[in-house]
Amino acid sequence: MSKHKYRFNPESLSFDKIELSVRKKIVKFLPHFFTTLGGAVVLFVIFAYFVDSPKERILLRENRQLQFQYELMNRQLDQVLSVLGDIQYRDDNIYRAIFGAEPIPASMRKAGFGGVNRYAELQGYDNSDLMIKTARQLDIITRQLYVQSKSYDDVVHLAKNKEKWLQCIPAIQPVLNKDLKMVASFFGWRMDPVYRYMIHHDGIDFAAPIGTDIFATGDGVVSIVDYSRGGYGYEIVVNHGFGYQTRYAHLSKMLVREGQKVKRGEIIGKIGNTGKSVGPHLHYEVIKNGRAIDPINYYFLDLKPDQYDKMIEMAAQGGQALD
Ligand SMILES: [Zn+2]
Repeated sequence: MSKHKYRFNPESLSFDKIELSVRKKIVKFLPHFFTTLGGAVVLFVIFAYFVDSPKERILLRENRQLQFQYELMNRQLDQVLSVLGDIQYRDDNIYRAIFGAEPIPASMRKAGFGGVNRYAELQGYDNSDLMIKTARQLDIITRQLYVQSKSYDDVVHLAKNKEKWLQCIPAIQPVLNKDLKMVASFFGWRMDPVYRYMIHHDGIDFAAPIGTDIFATGDGVVSIVDYSRGGYGYEIVVNHGFGYQTRYAHLSKMLVREGQKVKRGEIIGKIGNTGKSVGPHLHYEVIKNGRAIDPINYYFLDLKPDQYDKMIEMAAQGGQALD
């Protein structure tokens, strides 16, 4: 309802209605308008900043709940990682060890995701640290589980081939004890019998008369039958698969040919004194994945515990290599 103003007219003794122009009306109205608008803005700001709307309260509660759940999840992920660590330890030290597989290097197990920042889209929020930590934990677990699962594939494969593996790995002494004069030199650092300086002896020397039988120590395929220029003289190398090879050196006779399949205990050659050798003996090496390892750990089918202990004791005392 519009309000009108009146002015007293002394001549007509009556009130005349004052008519305002539109412009004047607007000018009159503006201060009220701005005062009201200003008040509204102030009230809005106060409410917006200090009073939560019902919707905001719901969102806040939800946010707190999410944050709590994230923290809980983080603690559970820590536990999962610790259990996974235990599984990895058992895998390396029991399952893989049983089947003669090397442990998986830590660098491979703990390898991260390289390249671009995977968590860029999680940055810039109040809870960024929490979200990034959780996402990172999940990534680490995913990656480690993948490596672990691959490792179990290996172990299952090895387990399925266990019988074959047991037949193939070198597991007996290549010379009968009754023929043996002595074990002249063990695996490790020794004075070289020819050059007279310390050199690593990659095998074990079994001293026995020329012509003594030499046995293949595991099933395999003969890969080398040759005269070696490297000082081994006449040598035979047998490939046993599963990463294993054995070398029989300084022979006088070779009774197998390259490519021939041999069984554990089969006579493959005779002891001699060929190549860089200072007396009749067999130089015997066990090679695993291209690296010579100590053959003393591969007699377990032959030796009783006390014999094994004696062998270890003799190895520790050293001796002179026949090479
Ligand atoms: Zn030797």
